[in-house]
Amino acid sequence: MSGGEVRAALREHEVKAMVAAAGVPVPRGVVVRESDFAVARGLAEPLVLKAFGPGLVHKSDAGAVRLGLRADELAAAAAEMRARLDGFLVEGFLVEEQAPAGVELIVGLVGDPGFGPVLLAGLGGIWTEAMRDTALRLCPISERDARLMLDSLRGSALLHGHRGRPPVDLDAVVKLLMTVGGPGGLWERLELGEFELNPVIATPSGVTAVDARHLPG
Ligand code: ADP
Ligand code: MG
Repeated sequence: MSGGEVRAALREHEVKAMVAAAGVPVPRGVVVRESDFAVARGLAEPLVLKAFGPGLVHKSDAGAVRLGLRADELAAAAAEMRARLDGFLVEGFLVEEQAPAGVELIVGLVGDPGFGPVLLAGLGGIWTEAMRDTALRLCPISERDARLMLDSLRGSALLHGHRGRPPVDLDAVVKLLMTVGGPGGLWERLELGEFELNPVIATPSGVTAVDARHLPG
């Protein structure tokens, strides 16, 4: 959330590897440091291209995210991105599969010096910034807490199916909240600081964390 400090921030693919090991679904992806995009051939299109480097915290603001690419478009898109990111150190690129559209959620941990880690869950994307529709709960949470958090959101109707849209896989959302904030969850292992999955895309068939940030405190 804060953009200033980039000190010991892990790269997105490193945070994703960590959360994937804990059981959080993330898109399949590869890291390309030079310009050998042939390694992306095994991924299913459409593809997402993201540049990474020490100053690239809010990637889309900087122009460091491109969606909807074919494999044969990656090299040109990366060259164009590098040129646009003049002034940033670009260490490499993350190429990953584009998750199908769904309801975007934010799931994070907020370190409270008085109380310890607090789980944050809410509607992501434009909702996080414009509507601030989030719920907070001290870790560890129970499954009941997870469901109450989701039901407390003003936009919870979006999760339950809205205007003819099918409901998202709520059990998968609850499982994700437990993996982050439940007993034995990521909150016990992460150094307090900033941790955020934003967005997590929820669909009727599951959840995918398509962005992950962790800044040890
Ligand atoms: P940042 O938050 O640093 O600007 P993100 O990695 O969140 O960058 O990407 C920006 C937006 O692009 C996301 O909010 C999401 O809507 C979309 N996006 C990013 N990666 C994927 C992906 N693998 N599949 C689908 N959508 C994605
Ligand atoms: Mg993001």
